[in-house]
Amino acid sequence: MLETMSSIMLLVLTIYSTFPIIGGLIGAKNNSIAAGVVLGLLLGPLGVLLMVMTLNNKRRECPYCYEVINNKALKCPHCQSDIKPII
Ligand SMILES: [Zn+2]
Repeated sequence: MLETMSSIMLLVLTIYSTFPIIGGLIGAKNNSIAAGVVLGLLLGPLGVLLMVMTLNNKRRECPYCYEVINNKALKCPHCQSDIKPII
């Protein structure tokens, strides 16, 4: 009985330990590995889901004026510079 319980706990721990890793991997694409790991650790699958959502809503800094702009922007709305979009 005790053996079954500890193997279930081990399984749960194994599954749960993958969430910070997945979160970190998603965060790496968004320059926020630490945020992904912490979210995965604290919220588990919910944290991973949150990271996926932030990935779809990516924003970055304009290389010319450093204002935060949309990743798909071809022109900075702040300084009107032409920018290469990140796909
Ligand atoms: Zn700009």
